[in-house]
Amino acid sequence: MTYPSGRTLSELEHNLAAVQHRIVVACRRVNRDPIEVRLLPVSKTVDEEYLRLAYQAGCRELGENKVQEAQRKAEALADLPDLRWSVIGHLQTNKAKHVARFASEFQALDSLRVAEALQRRLEIEDRTLEVLVQINTSNEPSKFGLAPDEAAAFIHELPTFSRLRVKGLMTLAIFSDDPTRVRPCFVRLRQLRDRLREQLPAGIDMDTLSMGMSGDFELAIEEGATVVRVGQAIFGPRALSDSYYWPDADAGQDKSG
Ligand SMILES: *Cc1c(COP(=O)(O)O)cnc(C)c1O
Repeated sequence: MTYPSGRTLSELEHNLAAVQHRIVVACRRVNRDPIEVRLLPVSKTVDEEYLRLAYQAGCRELGENKVQEAQRKAEALADLPDLRWSVIGHLQTNKAKHVARFASEFQALDSLRVAEALQRRLEIEDRTLEVLVQINTSNEPSKFGLAPDEAAAFIHELPTFSRLRVKGLMTLAIFSDDPTRVRPCFVRLRQLRDRLREQLPAGIDMDTLSMGMSGDFELAIEEGATVVRVGQAIFGPRALSDSYYWPDADAGQDKSG
């Protein structure tokens, strides 16, 4: 996969329009309304100056994998009105206080300890946070997220955490160019969501399915994604190895760059 450069306003506008167009085309294939699919631009490793251009190009939310990087950028760009931040990577409890302060959404909830830490810090900040529960649909031990069969018990604990607005599920598919290996991960997340919906605790929503990235978002849309997290197809190829963000990503690597 080769990605276009995204370092000028016109490149960013062009890349955003191209991704939006691919979303529309993928929706058309399966008779979905493109309005159901939210594009979350993922800006990890991209410097603030380019994020200002992305804002000019129309981005009103950005996804970041690492809390410290996200917080640094949120502070540097605090002058941009209504820019929302979504944390999409694994969180340690000692970083919950930062997320509680600046993030609008956290997509990688996978433990009650983190839910507790977020609840406590959100009370202090008097804020709420939209959250997605991360599911490991590829059964790779290196991936974060709950096993699908742990999800039902987990979400039944979540109504206790009044500051968390639970909206659905998130997953990372297996790292592979082979659609016959990637697609089943997306199918698994959708089917799990459908099962969970049959016995949903009060106040818990399962409408959101965050799945699909630059290399596989069309497949994910075909299988029901309502959020796609797209970095490189907007901002250009990343220099940093993916293993910096995903432990062991390089091991089975045939997808990056
Ligand atoms: C980096 C990242 C993405 C986006 O990946 P691209 O290949 O840049 O589209 C999506 N989800 C998560 C959790 C990520 O860390």
